[in-house]
This record gives sequence, structure tokens and C-alpha cells, in this order.
Amino acid sequence: MQFNVSQLLKEGAGALRQHTLHENIERLDPDITPLSTLDGTIQMIRTPTGVYVRGNLHCSAELVCARCLDPFSMPLHIPLDEEFQSIVDIATGATLPVEPDDELATQIDDRHTLDLTEVLRQDILLALPPFPICRTNCAGLCPACGKNQNIEKCNHPEEKIDPRLQVLEQLLKE
Ligand SMILES: [Zn+2]
Ligand SMILES: [Zn+2]
Repeated sequence: MQFNVSQLLKEGAGALRQHTLHENIERLDPDITPLSTLDGTIQMIRTPTGVYVRGNLHCSAELVCARCLDPFSMPLHIPLDEEFQSIVDIATGATLPVEPDDELATQIDDRHTLDLTEVLRQDILLALPPFPICRTNCAGLCPACGKNQNIEKCNHPEEKIDPRLQVLEQLLKE
């Protein structure tokens, strides 16, 4: 996901480019299991010190339900909003001062390449829900037998039986 932005950098602040992304992200991160390409439109806007990138991207990914442990497909919406800094002046070729806390991921390198890969990897990871649920009413696994309650309802009570009732039950059996 690399873009040569030298032409854009030669223009004045406010100059704009639009790009359509259609990216294979299968090898982006071991924690991301994409089920589609990453798609959407981004805009690149020349700033006094670099390029501001914004856009709305989407893909679908396979997640594992935290309740029933079944894999399911989830559409992800990935907002992109990042400012990239040039490390070399496009006009003079001089090295530009880079803030020590500037992330490498948001630097435009000395060949004027803007690489979205790392920023998008982080944004997709942020878009993954920490507690994914396959459906709002997912019944989860039975705590007694472990059966997926979405597929098959077993008759195990969901709640633990009150110990006093257990004594009573025991008495009734005898
Ligand atoms: Zn589930
Ligand atoms: Zn059960």
C-alpha cells in the first residue's frame, strides 16, 4: 500500500489526490483473518510539512465469538485519519527535522513514498471488537455440557441450583 507522493508534494498546501483502494490484506497481521479485500476511497491532502490522509475503508474479517466460540464473519469499518511528515524537502532535497516522537509509520521517506501499511494494520486492529459476539442474542455454550445453545438447546439449567434446593432434591430422590 505504497504511494509515490512526489507530484503531490510539489504542489501547494491544500492540493488533493483521491485514490481507490482494493487491497489484499491476507498477510497484514496474524491477528487479522480477512474474508475480503480492503476497499474504499482515500484522499491525500498536501499540508505544509507533508500529506494528510483521510478516508473510509471497509472489509470483512473472521472473528471467533466470545460466547459460543464459533467463527463468524464481521463487517469492519475502518476510518483513516493520519498526517504523514516528509523527511526530505521535495524542492531542495534537504533533510527535514523530524520530531523524535514521530512514528516511523507516518514518515514519507527520502524517495517520497508514503506507505499506508502500518497505519492501516493498526487501524484494523483497533476496529476489531475486544469482545466479539456472533449475534446480539447469542445463547453461548451450556455451562454444564458445553453444547452450543444456538444450535441445540439442551435441558441443563443455566443457573446453578441453590445448594438448599439441592439438599431438598436429594431428599426427594431418597
Ligand atoms: Zn456466538
Ligand atoms: Zn447442556
